[in-house]
Amino acid sequence: MNIIVLSRNAALYSTDSIVRAAKKRNHYVRVLDHMACDLVIEEDKLEVYYNGQKIERVDAIIPRIGNSATTHGSAVIRQFEGMGVFTALGSDPLLKSRDKISCLQILASNGIKVPRTAISNNSYMASQMLDLVGPSPHVLKLASGTHGMGVMLSKDKQNAEGILEAFGRTNKILIQKFISEAKGCDVRAFVVDGQIVGVMKRQAQEGEFRSNLHRGGHSYVVPLSPLEEKVALNACKLMGLNIAGVDMLQTHQGPMVLEVNASPGLEGIENTTKVDIAKKIIEFVEKNAK
Ligand code: ADP
Repeated sequence: MNIIVLSRNAALYSTDSIVRAAKKRNHYVRVLDHMACDLVIEEDKLEVYYNGQKIERVDAIIPRIGNSATTHGSAVIRQFEGMGVFTALGSDPLLKSRDKISCLQILASNGIKVPRTAISNNSYMASQMLDLVGPSPHVLKLASGTHGMGVMLSKDKQNAEGILEAFGRTNKILIQKFISEAKGCDVRAFVVDGQIVGVMKRQAQEGEFRSNLHRGGHSYVVPLSPLEEKVALNACKLMGLNIAGVDMLQTHQGPMVLEVNASPGLEGIENTTKVDIAKKIIEFVEKNAK
């Protein structure tokens, strides 16, 4: 097959793993920077250009779209979709999952537990919104943050109000109930093609509540309970994602989903679980691309 990996940097661990897995299985694979893909749109004629060259005869794309490239990245994916090319990540699921608000709305409206969350367009509503979520502490999150950046723990209401008033005008900020019983841990279930292929528990470093590996957290292998497995698979299905990392907090009320990541990194999960996830991604593409 002729496979394109959309990625800003061929040297990134995840991109490199996918390329090597594709080559091992005798595919022709190239990495294109989606931010350098130019699009031409005309009735029944969608074209992608890269460095002035038309990209043709592609069987499948595997998009690895970072947070800052979501808008153009999703346009590039949609262009390939319009050209009839199989994509491992759809443009709509990418947009829906990238926005923390729409992700929580889709999950919660389908009965998946999420931490109680409030959003207001008006910073003068800060005090009431905080009260609507519950007593302090609160977690405040930028709607478009990633790797734990833009996720804050506010221990008192005055402090939370200050943050919302200062930054709420220019940023969409989610106010969330702090789930203390998670004890600085979350569980990431990596899903490929409706199967859980790897699971790791991440523990935040001392004095930190965010368990992201980028924030110094450490990870280890854990089994998933049947309920956690069901929730993770259902969350992917609801978001329309075939490849995803589902982050869950283990709470007294069962698993609560924080987010469903559409371009989950492979380094942490492969090193922790020793599972060749890149190979599973290529097998999924082989099964589905024409
Ligand atoms: P990001 O997408 O930036 O990783 P998350 O919403 O996943 O943002 O939050 C980062 C980390 O912060 C999570 O992995 C979890 O450890 C912690 N966290 C997030 N929300 C809550 C919450 N409501 N209660 C307790 N811990 C939380």
